[in-house]
Amino acid sequence: MREWDELDLVPLSALQHYSYCPRQYGLIYLEQVWDENIYTMKGRWAHERADEEADKLREDVQILTALPVGSDLYGLVGKCDVVELHNGIPYPVEYKHGRLKSSIHDELQLCGQALCLEEMFGVPVVRGVVYHISSKHRREVEFTPELRRQVWEVAEEIRELNASGVLPQAVYDARCTDCSLQESCMPEVTDGHLSQDWADWSEAKRALAVDGS
Ligand code: SF4
Repeated sequence: MREWDELDLVPLSALQHYSYCPRQYGLIYLEQVWDENIYTMKGRWAHERADEEADKLREDVQILTALPVGSDLYGLVGKCDVVELHNGIPYPVEYKHGRLKSSIHDELQLCGQALCLEEMFGVPVVRGVVYHISSKHRREVEFTPELRRQVWEVAEEIRELNASGVLPQAVYDARCTDCSLQESCMPEVTDGHLSQDWADWSEAKRALAVDGS
Protein backbone atom coordinates (compact mmCIF):
# COMPACT_ATOMS: atom_id res chain seq x y z
CA MET A 1 0.00 0.00 0.00
CA ARG A 2 1.20 3.51 -0.83
CA GLU A 3 2.72 5.42 2.10
CA TRP A 4 1.18 8.86 2.47
CA ASP A 5 2.97 11.95 3.54
CA GLU A 6 0.66 13.93 5.82
CA LEU A 7 0.43 16.69 3.20
CA ASP A 8 -0.77 14.18 0.60
CA LEU A 9 -3.87 13.26 2.60
CA VAL A 10 -6.81 14.87 0.81
CA PRO A 11 -9.66 16.28 2.95
CA LEU A 12 -13.06 14.96 1.87
CA SER A 13 -14.43 18.48 1.49
CA ALA A 14 -11.54 19.25 -0.90
CA LEU A 15 -13.00 16.74 -3.38
CA GLN A 16 -16.10 18.91 -3.53
CA HIS A 17 -14.24 22.23 -3.79
CA TYR A 18 -11.71 21.03 -6.39
CA SER A 19 -14.30 19.38 -8.63
CA TYR A 20 -16.40 22.56 -8.50
CA CYS A 21 -13.42 24.75 -9.42
CA PRO A 22 -9.71 23.95 -9.01
CA ARG A 23 -9.01 27.62 -8.34
CA GLN A 24 -11.57 27.62 -5.53
CA TYR A 25 -9.69 24.68 -3.99
CA GLY A 26 -6.37 26.50 -4.46
CA LEU A 27 -7.63 29.68 -2.84
CA ILE A 28 -8.95 27.81 0.20
CA TYR A 29 -6.23 25.20 0.73
CA LEU A 30 -3.10 26.81 -0.76
CA GLU A 31 -3.80 30.44 0.09
CA GLN A 32 -6.09 30.03 3.13
CA VAL A 33 -8.74 32.36 1.71
CA TRP A 34 -12.26 31.94 2.99
CA ASP A 35 -15.08 34.42 2.36
CA GLU A 36 -18.58 33.97 3.68
CA ASN A 37 -21.60 34.38 1.43
CA ILE A 38 -25.18 33.24 1.68
CA TYR A 39 -24.23 29.79 0.33
CA THR A 40 -21.42 29.15 2.80
CA MET A 41 -23.62 30.35 5.67
CA LYS A 42 -26.40 28.02 4.56
CA GLY A 43 -23.86 25.20 4.19
CA ARG A 44 -22.59 25.73 7.74
CA TRP A 45 -26.14 25.85 8.99
CA ALA A 46 -26.87 22.55 7.20
CA HIS A 47 -23.96 20.84 8.96
CA GLU A 48 -25.02 22.26 12.32
CA ARG A 49 -28.53 20.92 11.71
CA ALA A 50 -27.27 17.46 10.73
CA ASP A 51 -27.49 15.89 14.22
CA GLU A 52 -30.96 17.23 14.89
CA GLU A 53 -32.31 16.27 11.46
CA ALA A 54 -30.77 12.81 11.67
CA ASP A 55 -32.50 12.15 15.00
CA LYS A 56 -35.84 13.28 13.61
CA LEU A 57 -35.71 11.37 10.37
CA ARG A 58 -34.20 7.99 11.12
CA GLU A 59 -35.19 6.91 14.60
CA ASP A 60 -35.33 3.32 13.37
CA VAL A 61 -31.59 3.01 12.67
CA GLN A 62 -28.45 3.50 14.74
CA ILE A 63 -26.83 6.83 13.92
CA LEU A 64 -23.25 8.06 14.28
CA THR A 65 -22.62 11.79 13.94
CA ALA A 66 -19.48 13.85 13.23
CA LEU A 67 -17.51 10.63 12.70
CA PRO A 68 -13.78 11.14 11.87
CA VAL A 69 -12.83 8.89 8.95
CA GLY A 70 -9.86 8.13 6.71
CA SER A 71 -8.66 5.89 3.91
CA ASP A 72 -5.10 4.53 3.64
CA LEU A 73 -5.90 3.19 0.20
CA TYR A 74 -7.09 6.46 -1.31
CA GLY A 75 -5.22 8.88 0.96
CA LEU A 76 -8.34 10.63 2.26
CA VAL A 77 -9.23 12.16 5.64
CA GLY A 78 -12.29 13.95 6.96
CA LYS A 79 -15.47 13.69 8.90
CA CYS A 80 -18.89 12.24 8.10
CA ASP A 81 -21.84 14.43 9.13
CA VAL A 82 -24.05 11.42 9.73
CA VAL A 83 -23.59 7.69 9.25
CA GLU A 84 -26.63 5.45 9.54
CA LEU A 85 -25.96 1.83 10.42
CA HIS A 86 -28.32 -0.53 8.61
CA ASN A 87 -27.74 -3.96 10.17
CA GLY A 88 -24.13 -2.94 10.80
CA ILE A 89 -23.59 -1.65 7.24
CA PRO A 90 -22.60 2.04 7.21
CA TYR A 91 -24.66 4.36 5.03
CA PRO A 92 -23.19 7.89 4.80
CA VAL A 93 -25.59 10.85 4.74
CA GLU A 94 -24.27 14.25 3.65
CA TYR A 95 -26.44 17.24 4.61
CA LYS A 96 -26.78 20.05 2.09
CA HIS A 97 -28.78 23.25 2.22
CA GLY A 98 -31.28 23.98 -0.53
CA ARG A 99 -33.72 21.95 -2.52
CA LEU A 100 -33.18 18.72 -4.42
CA LYS A 101 -30.55 19.03 -7.13
CA SER A 102 -28.08 16.60 -8.59
CA SER A 103 -24.43 17.56 -8.09
CA ILE A 104 -21.40 15.50 -9.04
CA HIS A 105 -19.39 17.57 -6.53
CA ASP A 106 -21.56 16.40 -3.62
CA GLU A 107 -21.48 12.84 -4.95
CA LEU A 108 -17.68 12.79 -5.04
CA GLN A 109 -17.51 13.96 -1.43
CA LEU A 110 -20.08 11.36 -0.37
CA CYS A 111 -18.30 8.59 -2.28
CA GLY A 112 -15.05 9.63 -0.57
CA GLN A 113 -16.80 9.09 2.76
CA ALA A 114 -17.96 5.65 1.61
CA LEU A 115 -14.43 4.62 0.62
CA CYS A 116 -13.21 5.59 4.10
CA LEU A 117 -16.08 3.74 5.80
CA GLU A 118 -15.41 0.59 3.76
CA GLU A 119 -11.86 0.46 5.08
CA MET A 120 -12.85 1.28 8.65
CA PHE A 121 -15.76 -1.17 8.89
CA GLY A 122 -14.36 -3.82 6.53
CA VAL A 123 -17.61 -4.11 4.56
CA PRO A 124 -18.73 -2.90 1.12
CA VAL A 125 -20.55 0.44 1.19
CA VAL A 126 -22.51 0.58 -2.03
CA ARG A 127 -24.78 3.57 -1.55
CA GLY A 128 -25.41 6.65 0.57
CA VAL A 129 -27.59 9.73 0.60
CA VAL A 130 -27.35 13.46 0.00
CA TYR A 131 -30.06 14.96 2.20
CA HIS A 132 -31.44 18.30 0.98
CA ILE A 133 -32.65 20.13 4.06
CA SER A 134 -35.02 22.66 2.42
CA SER A 135 -36.99 20.06 0.50
CA LYS A 136 -36.38 17.29 3.09
CA HIS A 137 -35.45 15.04 0.19
CA ARG A 138 -33.10 12.08 0.46
CA ARG A 139 -31.27 11.64 -2.85
CA GLU A 140 -29.70 8.21 -2.95
CA VAL A 141 -26.30 7.93 -4.62
CA GLU A 142 -24.83 4.64 -5.81
CA PHE A 143 -21.07 4.31 -5.49
CA THR A 144 -20.34 2.95 -8.95
CA PRO A 145 -16.86 1.91 -10.11
CA GLU A 146 -16.87 5.05 -12.28
CA LEU A 147 -17.61 7.35 -9.31
CA ARG A 148 -14.91 5.63 -7.23
CA ARG A 149 -12.44 6.08 -10.11
CA GLN A 150 -13.33 9.79 -10.28
CA VAL A 151 -12.66 10.19 -6.54
CA TRP A 152 -9.20 8.70 -7.05
CA GLU A 153 -8.49 10.92 -10.07
CA VAL A 154 -9.60 14.10 -8.30
CA ALA A 155 -7.54 13.19 -5.21
CA GLU A 156 -4.47 12.62 -7.40
CA GLU A 157 -5.00 15.96 -9.19
CA ILE A 158 -5.24 17.67 -5.81
CA ARG A 159 -1.97 16.07 -4.68
CA GLU A 160 -0.29 17.24 -7.91
CA LEU A 161 -1.59 20.75 -7.36
CA ASN A 162 -0.37 20.74 -3.76
CA ALA A 163 3.07 19.63 -4.93
CA SER A 164 3.22 22.39 -7.56
CA GLY A 165 1.93 25.05 -5.16
CA VAL A 166 0.63 26.98 -8.18
CA LEU A 167 -2.79 28.59 -7.88
CA PRO A 168 -4.90 27.59 -10.92
CA GLN A 169 -6.02 30.34 -13.25
CA ALA A 170 -9.62 31.53 -13.02
CA VAL A 171 -12.20 30.51 -15.60
CA TYR A 172 -14.90 33.16 -15.54
CA ASP A 173 -18.19 31.34 -16.13
CA ALA A 174 -21.57 30.54 -14.56
CA ARG A 175 -19.98 28.85 -11.52
CA CYS A 176 -18.58 32.19 -10.36
CA THR A 177 -22.07 33.57 -9.66
CA ASP A 178 -22.57 31.26 -6.66
CA CYS A 179 -18.94 31.20 -5.53
CA SER A 180 -18.20 32.69 -2.11
CA LEU A 181 -14.65 33.52 -3.21
CA GLN A 182 -15.59 35.70 -6.16
CA GLU A 183 -14.41 38.86 -4.44
CA SER A 184 -10.99 37.43 -3.57
CA CYS A 185 -10.65 35.57 -6.88
CA MET A 186 -11.63 38.48 -9.15
CA PRO A 187 -12.33 36.13 -12.10
CA GLU A 188 -13.20 39.09 -14.34
CA VAL A 189 -9.52 40.06 -14.42
CA THR A 190 -7.75 36.78 -13.58
CA ASP A 191 -9.45 34.64 -16.24
CA GLY A 192 -6.74 33.39 -18.63
CA HIS A 193 -8.81 34.04 -21.77
CA LEU A 194 -9.77 37.53 -20.71
CA SER A 195 -6.16 38.27 -19.79
CA GLN A 196 -5.13 37.13 -23.27
CA ASP A 197 -7.78 39.39 -24.82
CA TRP A 198 -6.41 42.25 -22.77
CA ALA A 199 -2.84 41.45 -23.90
CA ASP A 200 -3.96 41.22 -27.57
CA TRP A 201 -5.78 44.54 -27.28
CA SER A 202 -2.76 46.23 -25.69
CA GLU A 203 -0.48 44.81 -28.40
CA ALA A 204 -2.81 46.02 -31.18
CA LYS A 205 -2.96 49.46 -29.58
CA ARG A 206 0.83 49.60 -29.33
CA ALA A 207 1.19 48.57 -33.00
CA LEU A 208 -1.24 51.31 -34.04
CA ALA A 209 0.75 53.88 -32.09
CA VAL A 210 4.01 52.75 -33.78
CA ASP A 211 2.44 52.82 -37.28
CA GLY A 212 0.99 56.24 -36.64
CA SER A 213 4.30 57.77 -35.53
S1 SF4 B 1 -14.94 33.01 -8.67
FE1 SF4 B 1 -15.09 31.51 -10.34
S2 SF4 B 1 -12.95 31.11 -10.98
FE2 SF4 B 1 -12.91 32.12 -8.98
S3 SF4 B 1 -12.76 30.47 -7.51
FE3 SF4 B 1 -14.93 30.98 -7.72
S4 SF4 B 1 -15.72 29.62 -9.31
FE4 SF4 B 1 -13.49 29.57 -9.43
